[in-house]
Parts: sequence; structure tokens; C-alpha cells
Amino acid sequence: MTKTIVDVFCDFVQIGSESGDEARFISYLQDLFTSKLDANCMLDEYGNLIARVPAKGSTKDEPILLGAHADTVKPGKGIKPVVENGVIRSAGETILGADDKAGIAEIFEAVRSATKHPPLEIVITRGEEVGLLGAKNLDVSLVRAKMGFIIDGEEADTIVIGGPTHISLDIEVIGKAAHAGMEPEKGISAIRVASVAISRMPLGRIDEETTANVGTIHGGMIRNGIPERVKIQAECRSLNDDKAMRQAEAMRSAFEEAAREAGAKVQIATELEYRASRTSEDAPVVKIAQEAIRAVGLTPRTEVITGGTDALVLSGRGIAAVVLGYGGSAAHTEQEQITQEALEASSAVIKQIIEHAA
Ligand SMILES: [Zn+2]
Repeated sequence: MTKTIVDVFCDFVQIGSESGDEARFISYLQDLFTSKLDANCMLDEYGNLIARVPAKGSTKDEPILLGAHADTVKPGKGIKPVVENGVIRSAGETILGADDKAGIAEIFEAVRSATKHPPLEIVITRGEEVGLLGAKNLDVSLVRAKMGFIIDGEEADTIVIGGPTHISLDIEVIGKAAHAGMEPEKGISAIRVASVAISRMPLGRIDEETTANVGTIHGGMIRNGIPERVKIQAECRSLNDDKAMRQAEAMRSAFEEAAREAGAKVQIATELEYRASRTSEDAPVVKIAQEAIRAVGLTPRTEVITGGTDALVLSGRGIAAVVLGYGGSAAHTEQEQITQEALEASSAVIKQIIEHAA
């Protein structure tokens, strides 16, 4: 007998796959997609799964990418799903893992039950929750699709069409150690330099599309020593790429100036995590998603978010991608849940997309 989407989803969440520990779950999906969808599966060097499903009842040659991520946040080991009145929660002190296993179950069910579809490339990434690592390292030479739908948003009626530029900064201030009671004038306090720099830089919400944060600070060894070293982790993001660059520069120069004034050194490593992009509302990928959402009786909405997504990374790598909702709520908490209705609705949207494209 064919399993229901709830059964499939419950099977998925019972195979733990916290970020970095996805191999067992990916290999399970590989077997499932091969046996039930006739997919030709391969792993790229990073361990992302690419499953090519041949066209069904269609002569179209242009493939469509359907994506989701295999990893979950912690605590995601030993998840026991409980189904009650159509609502699925976790029984124990774990997340449920609907983010993003609901997305995978919905893709699977849509592809399994579609009467026709063009060639499909199902891409299941690793390490999404810890910096979109799978998408960044995806071997795109294995992917032919130029258009993709990533099932990793919350609401089934929402299409995420854009995201920010995100820059990480790792700063180390190097002062000079000295005994704090005997000869403080011989030292240069790295903590003081860092605090002067941080107090001068713009932080928090800079404007309606730009934010900045100093997230961690670690430094000093002992109470009575002038601290020689401080390490700081900071970030900024903006929907406007120029503004993100300028903000990162302002943060960098605040450290450099404060260090110069005190005679300290500073080392700053910046990393461009991903770049802002926005897909036009007129782009085919958006139009197709809107039509599919309407076809299942919902009113489509488009949205730009300030978080990173696999779609943002793929869009920057030549695959026009948007994010669609998997329908869960309270992701990343032990209260995470999803309803059978939401699983079915999101899966119906995906099925519309692929049947329509056939
Ligand atoms: Zn997710």
C-alpha cells in the first residue's frame, strides 16, 4: 500500500540529521528516490544529493529544480513524531524537523503522484542551517535546470523572491599584556580598544533594509592582567548590496581607528556570505509559482526577507530560484509543528508547478 504523506514525513523525521550528520538520511533518500521515483541519484563531492527524475508524459527537455535541505538544527536526535487530530508534533524534548523534512516529503509526494512532469532535478543540500554550506558548495555542473523552487519557507501562499547581502566579520584586537597593578602604563588593553571601536560603530537597525550586530566577544586571561587579545564576531546585512558593503567598511574602520589611536594592532577577516538578489515579479519562476498557488485556491504573496536561503545562493550561481512554503510553524523550537493539511497544500502547489510545466 502507498504510504500517506504523513507516513512519509514521520519516517523522515525519525532519521536524525543534525547539520554535519546528514549522510544516513541522504542515503535513505537516495534509495527512496531511486526505487519510488525512478530517479538517477548522485552525490556531489560535498555530499549534496542530486536526483534526476526523467520526464513523465512530457516531451519537454528543460528540467526544473526542486530543492530542500536535509539537515536540521539541534536537538534533532531521537525525534518521535506524534500525530493528533491532524497535527504533527514531537513527543520528546527535540525539534520536529518539519524544517525542512516537510519540504522533502512534499516534493516526494508531488513527484510520485503527478500525472505528468518535465525532467526534474531534486537537489537535497547539506549544512543549510549552519551557513547555506551545501548550496554554496553544490557542484552546479551536475545541475542542468535554470529555474528552481526551494521548499523551505513557512506559508504555502508565500513566494520569497529576494534576500540580503550578508557579510561576516572576524576581528582580533592585539594590544600588549602587562601587570595591571604593577605597571599598567606598559600595557595596551585590547578590551578597551574593542569597546571604543564598538561604541563608535553604527549597530542594530541602520535603516529599513540594513542591520548590523556584534554577536560575540571573547578576551582577556586574568583579572589582574592588561588583556592582550580580544576576538569579536560581527555581521551586517542589507537588501541593498552597496549599503551592506558600506556598513562592513564602517565597522572595519572603527576597529582600525581605535587600534591606531591606542597603538594596538587589529586583524580583520571579512567573508561575503552571500549577495543580495531580487527576482523580478515578472520572472517566469515567480509567475509559475503564483499560478500554482492560485490553482490550489490560495492567494499568492511575494516577499523579500533578511535571512539567507538556498534560493539566494543558487540565484547567485545562475539558477533562478525562489522559496516556497512547506507550511510548518515554530521552526527551531521544541514546539515546532505541522498539520496534515499544510503538508497536502504545499505538496499540491508543487504538483501544480510540475504538471503545468509538462
Ligand atoms: Zn529550513
